[in-house]
Amino acid sequence: MKLTVVGCSGSFPSAESACSSYLVEADGFRLLLDMGNGALGELQRHIGLYDLDAIFLSHLHADHCIDMCGYFVARYYRHDGGRCDAIPVYAPEGAEQRLTTAYADTPSPSSMSEVFDFRTLTTDSFELGPFTLRTAKVCHPVEAYGIRVEHEGRSLAYSGDTGVCDALHDLADGVDLFLCEASFTHGKEDIPELHLNGREAGAHAARAGAGRLVLTHIPPWTDGERNLADARAVYTGPAELARAGAVYEV
Ligand SMILES: [Zn+2]
Ligand SMILES: [Zn+2]
Repeated sequence: MKLTVVGCSGSFPSAESACSSYLVEADGFRLLLDMGNGALGELQRHIGLYDLDAIFLSHLHADHCIDMCGYFVARYYRHDGGRCDAIPVYAPEGAEQRLTTAYADTPSPSSMSEVFDFRTLTTDSFELGPFTLRTAKVCHPVEAYGIRVEHEGRSLAYSGDTGVCDALHDLADGVDLFLCEASFTHGKEDIPELHLNGREAGAHAARAGAGRLVLTHIPPWTDGERNLADARAVYTGPAELARAGAVYEV
């Protein structure tokens, strides 16, 4: 499968990148993991506006879902006069209402569901297109999920936003590529059950035996290189920082 980093900035966009959004493709099926601020524009560098087959929203913080409002416009008010079919949107409970409120004036309270088929996330395993997906609740102030994507014996895991948690270890166990958040700086920010620092991300990757670690969701005010060095201090496999536009063959 192919992983494209559409956006990887943590909490708010940077000059170099939109917020969280990752495109996973296999056998012509396109699954988007998160659609944070600026992601919809960047996505169109990689695929057509209507080429997505499904969307996963890890949680309902704006930096992971707010461009769904713009995507609603694109799907609901199609320029050719048509309306797009509803594509599956896997998201925590309350996503439809949250996005409808953010949009502010949808034609009706159920307009979002005409173009998005909202499916409530739980800790679960299921098939979607060519993928086997596993989702698990992670540790964040709002209901949040990480996800493991498997295809033909290859696997990747995406942490979403999380503090240290066992669920993340299970999702990442033995994956070929671990896309893990590292928002905080080791020794500087120490707020439990919110985000990981580079060292904690590296420790998760080491404990899970991940084949490759890609650190993401690093806010513009955080020194990514320091977080990468902290991760490398505890994880000996290949590790790097996510960059907008980066493509990985998993
Ligand atoms: Zn976030
Ligand atoms: Zn968050």
